[in-house]
Amino acid sequence: MGAGFGGMEFATVLSEELGADAGVTLIDRSDAFTFGFSKLDLLFGRATLDEIRLPYERFDKPGVDFRQETVTAIDPLERRVTTDAGSYEADYLVVALGADYDLDATPGLAEAGNEFYSVAGAERLSRLLPEFTEGRVVVGVCDAPFKCPPAPSEAALLLHDYLSERGLRDACEIEFLIPFARPVPPSPETSAALIEAFAEREIEVSLECRVDHLDGERGVVVLKDGSERPYDLFLGVPKHRAPEVVIASGMTEDGYIPVDSTHLQTRYPNVYAIGDVTTAGVPKAGVFAEGAGRVAARSVIATIRGEEPPQPYDGLGSCYIEFGAGRVGRVDVDFLSGPKPTGTYWAPSTDLVAEKELFGSSRRARWF
Ligand SMILES: Cc1cc2nc3c(=O)[nH]c(=O)nc-3n(C[C@H](O)[C@H](O)[C@H](O)COP(=O)(O)OP(=O)(O)OC[C@H]3O[C@@H](n4cnc5c(N)ncnc54)[C@H](O)[C@@H]3O)c2cc1C
Repeated sequence: MGAGFGGMEFATVLSEELGADAGVTLIDRSDAFTFGFSKLDLLFGRATLDEIRLPYERFDKPGVDFRQETVTAIDPLERRVTTDAGSYEADYLVVALGADYDLDATPGLAEAGNEFYSVAGAERLSRLLPEFTEGRVVVGVCDAPFKCPPAPSEAALLLHDYLSERGLRDACEIEFLIPFARPVPPSPETSAALIEAFAEREIEVSLECRVDHLDGERGVVVLKDGSERPYDLFLGVPKHRAPEVVIASGMTEDGYIPVDSTHLQTRYPNVYAIGDVTTAGVPKAGVFAEGAGRVAARSVIATIRGEEPPQPYDGLGSCYIEFGAGRVGRVDVDFLSGPKPTGTYWAPSTDLVAEKELFGSSRRARWF
């Protein structure tokens, strides 16, 4: 269930190993995939919706049957999935339904603000931004955990470029709000580089703040500690939650599905969960969902063949960070091997722009 980073990688590995015998049914309610980072391209007018959509009809793999259906119920004990079109019983079940957005958790966000984390939200904002000529923009993360921790920082830096290119930067102020004590918690070095980049661009930064609500009439963002930040335009990251159907299945604890972080198994026999829908001890990011999908697939194959379990999931991943001015940085994070997460920072460069493009094009080639 779910043809995102995790579900597509899982299905691809099974198809590669088992070919026409793989017997995978891949269900997603959408007709197309989009990379998370493409939403920033859409938001700032660097790409159109058609350019970023990758239709699932091109996800054509031996032994994989893609169904565009909406999952309406999951029975993890019986390994039964109900959709708007029928029901399925499985020997192995994989929940890869990602994280949903809970706009209602932040009153005023839908009416008096904007979110840029969904394709629809980024597209809507891409139509509003050209009309914005002066005032105060707040780029704010409503609550944690949220997908791709560097993405809100990227949005603030790219907004600076966008307004500068239109000759409007002097007429605008930008403030960045995040619930963490630093922008990229596992990497002090990356965080320091981002804080420096914000300072160079006169972007105000407020750390460790959570958004309570937006008061559109007064034009203020009200934080959980009661303090207020004036705004004319709010670019928000909504609070995340597991999809309703996952919560209703009884599989979640503290909001998401707990898994054994070595092979991504849930507490239900032969039921796996991967990616943003889990609490696997790694951040919510595509690169981690993909790695988890690969390990879950190898675990299923080993079980089918009666082999030893595969190498455990390593929790390693590299995240590219748009610093603006045509440069991209990178942080290599390691979440599971040591006592605490660590991150290695690579300064922004044009070489890393090319590497990020390869990250996208190699996945497009592999999956589509
Ligand atoms: C602005 C932005 C920038 C990002 N940049 C990066 C980046 O540079 N690198 C990176 O690694 N990650 C990035 N991410 C994060 C990344 O997109 C997600 O973490 C990743 O997609 C998670 O993969 P997943 O497989 O767990 O879930 P998803 O990719 O979200 O897939 C879940 C799928 O389940 C489907 N689904 C949900 N509910 C149902 C249902 N009831 N029935 C049927 N189908 C359903 C959805 O349609 C979706 O296709 C970014 C995210 C954003 C928003």
